[in-house]
Amino acid sequence: MKVAIIGGGLAGLTAAAYLSKDPTVEGVLFERSPQLGGRAFTYEKAGFTLNYGAHAVYGIDRHEITVMERELGLTFHSKQVDKRQVMYAKHDQLTPAPLDFVNLMRTELLNPRQKVRFVGEITAIIAHIHNIKNYSTLGEYLAQSNADEDVKELWEHLVCSNFFITPEEARKVPGPVISEYYHNLFLSNRPVNYILGSWAVITNQLREKIDLSGRWELALQEAVESVNYAERQFVLKTKHRELRFDRVVFAMPVQQIGKLLKGSPWEPFMVPYESNTATEVMVYDIGLKRVVARPFSYISDMDNKLFISDVSATDHTLVPEGGQLLQGIAYLSDGFADEEERKAYLDSKTKQMEALFDHYYPGWREETAVKRVSKKAMVASVKNIATNRLLPTRIDHVPFYFCGDGCVGKGELAERAFSSARQVAKAILEDMKLSCVGN
Ligand SMILES: Cc1cc2nc3c(=O)[nH]c(=O)nc-3n(C[C@H](O)[C@H](O)[C@H](O)COP(=O)(O)OP(=O)(O)OC[C@H]3O[C@@H](n4cnc5c(N)ncnc54)[C@H](O)[C@@H]3O)c2cc1C
Repeated sequence: MKVAIIGGGLAGLTAAAYLSKDPTVEGVLFERSPQLGGRAFTYEKAGFTLNYGAHAVYGIDRHEITVMERELGLTFHSKQVDKRQVMYAKHDQLTPAPLDFVNLMRTELLNPRQKVRFVGEITAIIAHIHNIKNYSTLGEYLAQSNADEDVKELWEHLVCSNFFITPEEARKVPGPVISEYYHNLFLSNRPVNYILGSWAVITNQLREKIDLSGRWELALQEAVESVNYAERQFVLKTKHRELRFDRVVFAMPVQQIGKLLKGSPWEPFMVPYESNTATEVMVYDIGLKRVVARPFSYISDMDNKLFISDVSATDHTLVPEGGQLLQGIAYLSDGFADEEERKAYLDSKTKQMEALFDHYYPGWREETAVKRVSKKAMVASVKNIATNRLLPTRIDHVPFYFCGDGCVGKGELAERAFSSARQVAKAILEDMKLSCVGN
């Protein structure tokens, strides 16, 4: 059987790595860029390893990557971000983020009575008996909750930081999503980890597995321009060739799938997913020649909704000797009247970010060796809020398979890219077995 995978990000590579284990499957993975990795792309500059996106893994012991580690034989090391060094800043005061019981007792965000209340909420989430799963959104749950405003604000802020969204959007996250996500995270012994050496450690190994099979072609800088069906096969066209396949996997953002299928018989099936909105953030990476200050590993500014991770405090492999790598991220609102208003908003976010750097890392401007500012980085191709619809991995009457962080799957962000891709690979192998039995 011949399979085409369109997209060489985490999802496409994962699907190909699973499929490459089967000797009866061969295929081509098409990637339009010159390199693999998609939004998990990593590059080197002046001795610093920069990730296009961050590489934090939330709840690694219960994360899909741990399943893949076992099933695909991946080897990587991860390091836990020091929980005692994760701080929230509110009204210019720093206090421990309530990531675990110790921090919760120490934090000044809540008074003793509110702490008891919050512990009760966590316990109910862990036991899967929290009422939130019966509410359509976090906002609806909070509106009827008799908890103090500080407890409500803490819920919102947690969701902001795990989903990379603003408080307004956090209130739109469905109750069942919150219940499931925090059930896993609160049960985890390792809430925030970095893959040492960045996502490249994972993407390189997935690539090796695929290459080693000898049955897969990795077609870089080859965008798929159209997909058609003729004589019981799918015909994929790129700029230079036309190839036929038995199965097609779309491993790219939903918005781009819609464009690729425009004018095809499958266009109408994509309409419900066309108006989905993506999660976008501003990223401000700075590589410093020396460690200018190391107050904490992570500082989240609750007032302005931005945070700075001292990535090199956890993963020193990403910097040259004595260097420091800081990543600032700002959650962004949308819905601006015009481009000018949006630009002014982004400029104000840039200034807030630089002020936060000035406050906690004085002298950073003079020591900057590498700087990368991206004012519109797509963290999740579909924001997981009630007004959006994640794309299922299969759709009735559509012969394709879909995976990626905009698809239905376990977890958020990269975890959903991994989990949906694994699910798709297993479904293809299962379908193949069934059709063999049928023949
Ligand atoms: C700033 C930032 C911070 C992040 N932080 C985290 C984090 O801390 N933890 C976490 O888990 N996740 C994080 N993420 C999210 C994570 O990077 C993504 O969820 C993940 O990389 C998505 O992978 P994907 O394969 O679904 O999609 P993509 O990476 O978008 O891959 C899709 C690929 O398809 C290719 N493509 C598109 N159209 C075509 C075509 N016609 N033909 C051929 N190829 C095509 C694209 O070039 C791309 O390479 C972050 C992302 C960003 C941007």
